[in-house]
Amino acid sequence: MTIKTLRNIEEIRSCVNRWRSKGARTALVPTMGGLHEGHLSLVRHARGVADHVVVSLFVNPTQFNNKADLEKYPRNEESDRSKLADLDVDVLFAPDAEEMYPKGFTTEVTVAGASDILCGKHRPGHFDGVATIVTKLFLQTGADVACFGEKDFQQLSLVRRLVQDLNIPIEIAGVPTVREKDGLAMSSRNVRLSATARKTAPKLNATLVKARNAILEGQKISVVCKTAIASLEEAGFSKVDYLELRAEDDLDELKTLDRPARLLAAAWIGDVRLIDNIIANKVPD
Ligand code: AMP
Repeated sequence: MTIKTLRNIEEIRSCVNRWRSKGARTALVPTMGGLHEGHLSLVRHARGVADHVVVSLFVNPTQFNNKADLEKYPRNEESDRSKLADLDVDVLFAPDAEEMYPKGFTTEVTVAGASDILCGKHRPGHFDGVATIVTKLFLQTGADVACFGEKDFQQLSLVRRLVQDLNIPIEIAGVPTVREKDGLAMSSRNVRLSATARKTAPKLNATLVKARNAILEGQKISVVCKTAIASLEEAGFSKVDYLELRAEDDLDELKTLDRPARLLAAAWIGDVRLIDNIIANKVPD
């Protein structure tokens, strides 16, 4: 099925308004393309919680703190469109950069504190770009619910904070991470991994699992995290930005496992930066 594509803000706004006037609910799935099963699981989730589904496709330049990363980001609208073909998506919203950031654009949304920790600390400006674009998408579409992946856990947490702080009337749904068979979290950047790097990459998840098990056995958290970072470096990761235990709700750093928590990590293999996180409080069924 060919998906209807809209590129203009007025068109998407009036489309969602029309649905709302008939009492129908709309779910938004924001993406930057390079679609894989992770994105598709967000779309399936969206389908289950709303009457209409809008997938947005926009490689947002303002969230790239690294020019080379932006240039190398996979862009193939036709291939993305074909991956969505069987999923009953109502509209693909694919604006161009001028539509999103017209000449003279100067406003930025900042979620205070996000840039001080985890990915924010290592990617200056990244979360301001994310906060600004998701706020725009929420206001442009007027969707009732937006679906985000737990894979980008800090992003999900920031989006929840900003809709609460700015009283944006949209529900935020978090969707579990989809993985390759060997545990590697699916990511649009995985296509950039060399054959050797692809073999090393699943060790990020395996190391998180091992660290989680050690924490559950009662080992000291700071020691477990240090050991895990060292073992990633030994496994071939060129740099580990962080591997930390944080509270699930406010991402506070935890010294003891006394509340729902996540183990989160970001590490580089060559020029590809991978992120992952897992629930820390229990071994999943
Ligand atoms: P992106 O296109 O990378 O900006 O991601 C768009 C959305 O897909 C975000 O909400 C991501 O968290 C989500 N996503 C990306 N990879 C995965 C994955 N492996 N599993 C679940 N959701 C994902």
